Amino acid sequence: MLDINCKQNLIDSFNTYFNNSICKCCGGTYDYKTFNCRYCGDFNEKLKTSHENIDSLLSKLTKDDLDKELYLYLYKASSINEDLKKEFAQFDVDIEVDKIINELQESSSYNKEDGKLIDFIFSDDLFLEKDKILRDLILRNVILIKNTLSKEIIEKVVSHLVLSSTRKISKNSNFFISDLGEEISGSAFYYNICLDRKEMDSFYDNGDIQIFFTLFHEMSHIYRTYLESKGMVNSIYDLLALKERLLSKYSLDIYLNDNNYVKNLHEIEANVNSYYLAVNYLKSLGLEIDNEYALTLSSVVNNDLTNVADPFREIDGELVNINDLFKEFIEDRKDLLDKYPQLHYEFKEEDGKVVYKSKMELVDDYLLCDDNNLEELYLCLIDNAAKNEKMIEKNNSKEV
Ligand SMILES: [Zn+2]
Ligand SMILES: [Zn+2]
Repeated sequence: MLDINCKQNLIDSFNTYFNNSICKCCGGTYDYKTFNCRYCGDFNEKLKTSHENIDSLLSKLTKDDLDKELYLYLYKASSINEDLKKEFAQFDVDIEVDKIINELQESSSYNKEDGKLIDFIFSDDLFLEKDKILRDLILRNVILIKNTLSKEIIEKVVSHLVLSSTRKISKNSNFFISDLGEEISGSAFYYNICLDRKEMDSFYDNGDIQIFFTLFHEMSHIYRTYLESKGMVNSIYDLLALKERLLSKYSLDIYLNDNNYVKNLHEIEANVNSYYLAVNYLKSLGLEIDNEYALTLSSVVNNDLTNVADPFREIDGELVNINDLFKEFIEDRKDLLDKYPQLHYEFKEEDGKVVYKSKMELVDDYLLCDDNNLEELYLCLIDNAAKNEKMIEKNNSKEV
């Protein structure tokens, strides 16, 4: 085994190396031969010296000199730099790291040394794919009040549960824990998720499973943001939900009014998804929960699911149809038509304005469309347009 000073020296060099792997001037990465930033050219002396230090220290070592902790450092360094990966070939880093994680998976109570390894593993995104089973076992221990790890570590493990999904959608996705106030348990903002501290504490202290319903709820919002950004539409609800979201910039009441909140398609979708995802996730941990309880935790019980197509919302005490309101809202916002190409299903540009397509135009689109999955969407749009045109006709004849 390595003497303690040499080990510390190596760890310090690794930490300096990691802390300098992103350019402080421009956020770019370095060329690991010249130690110049690939984007702005900045030369990093610390990166160079720590690299040389790592090289010279490791050249004197064999597999037997390394302990588990050092293997995790080697794994991280080799994932940053291909050249180091080659230099480390003799140490079988990948195999050793898999062994470490497997061993941790087999244990259910962790000593201080294990805690250190787990902390390292969950502090780093590099292990996101590798630590899935370990992550689930640790979270299961918390639910069963068998956990021996610190709150700080558990927060990192929870973070990995979220990021393992959301980072697939966006590399910029992040997870935070903070104080969100009285009635808010979580929030989603673009590709970021925030969990209320009270909920985290209640999970850590009492094994409260509400946290999973909240997290899957917020993750569902992020997935919806992704679908909207990609212009993906499968049904009329996707279009209605987009209108509802865009309109919330026009009137916050649309979103925040309690009467609307229970009808909000985004919230209904997130609640329903959280119900299924959390129940299935807990099942995968071998934990069955009472169905009524799951419906309450997911808030599905608060939603009116009998009429999800209801386009009426309350604004300043008045009931307004989202489709009508959107007509005024979009009229002068051509930029939205470019940003969300899915709006073209229903809208077109005419004399510099954005307007609803007519029934006949929608029929033409429908006949030209060869995607069978969109048949129902078109039939709904045609039906809406027909009703609208009839109403306009009726109003006109009244005026005469
Ligand atoms: Zn730079
Ligand atoms: Zn929500």
